[in-house]
Amino acid sequence: MSADVIDGKAFAAALKKDVARQVAILKEQHDLTPGLAVVLVGDDPASQVYVRNKNKSTKEAGMNSYEHRMDPDVSEAELLAVVDRLNQDPAVHAILVQLPLPKHINEAAVIDAISPEKDVDGFHVINSGLLATGGKGMVPCTPLGCVMMLKDRLGDMSGLEAVIVGRSNIVGKPMAQLLLNENCTVTMAHSRTRDLPAVIGRADIVVAAVGVPELVKGSWIKEGATVIDVGINRIEKPDGKTRLIGDVEYDEAIKHAAAITPVPGGVGPMTIAVLLKNTVTAACRQARVDEPIV
Ligand code: NAD
Repeated sequence: MSADVIDGKAFAAALKKDVARQVAILKEQHDLTPGLAVVLVGDDPASQVYVRNKNKSTKEAGMNSYEHRMDPDVSEAELLAVVDRLNQDPAVHAILVQLPLPKHINEAAVIDAISPEKDVDGFHVINSGLLATGGKGMVPCTPLGCVMMLKDRLGDMSGLEAVIVGRSNIVGKPMAQLLLNENCTVTMAHSRTRDLPAVIGRADIVVAAVGVPELVKGSWIKEGATVIDVGINRIEKPDGKTRLIGDVEYDEAIKHAAAITPVPGGVGPMTIAVLLKNTVTAACRQARVDEPIV
């Protein structure tokens, strides 16, 4: 048996199309153009690429895109002042501060300075609290994209055993909340978990979000499981060039899983598409209009 490959690129393309249709309706019926502001501090090459892609995708969807680039040695106070200005700006419905921030800036303080209703990444404590208590907040893009792909593949997930490897605030923990909301039986595994192979071996759904290349061995995967690989690891090939691989040993895992996301081309493209979707959600809530159904 070889697993079906869950095509994140195609999924993301379809979602982006839906978002563009929603934006067109909002403009026409409500004179509302959703606006996303991205703040980039410093010149980290990976972050520059992400921000460029976000900017391009936002414009392609017909939304307004605002970019704020700041020097790597900008003070925390200056960054907070920019966030405050964006909080007050009615044309900006969504604010994303690209992480990681330079070491001299307190990341938590910056995230908590973003108005919760404009916190398109869903990292603000109010939004994580709302997610944990079943409220209506902004949901982090990467885990939301994973759940959308899982639902599409599996339909009703009630009672399924889900194992999430990694307990970060931006992926692992919100992923656990979302799968609990889908009535899965959720286990969170992490660096102190004993006998990871046995824990993973009972999972109908495995979500790997660790950042260690091929940590999850293919032979650990239960026959017929669905595997979502969030990890993005750049490794060097024998010829000196680099390539991206995930947290799951893909070539072995496809022999056991029923379906799996590849790296690249799985979770990654979905994250940006969900960011656009979240921007529309934020704009609609702030303008008090329903999200158009397309
Ligand atoms: P993180 O470093 O904040 O958290 C990693 C987690 O993995 C920790 O909770 C830790 O306990 C756990 N861990 C570490 N070693 C382990 C081990 N040996 N066994 C079990 N658990 C272990 O990372 P993050 O921000 O959650 O990101 C995880 C990965 O996902 C990274 O590769 C990152 O690049 C990727 N990522 C991808 C996207 C995307 O859009 N596809 C978005 C966010 C993160």
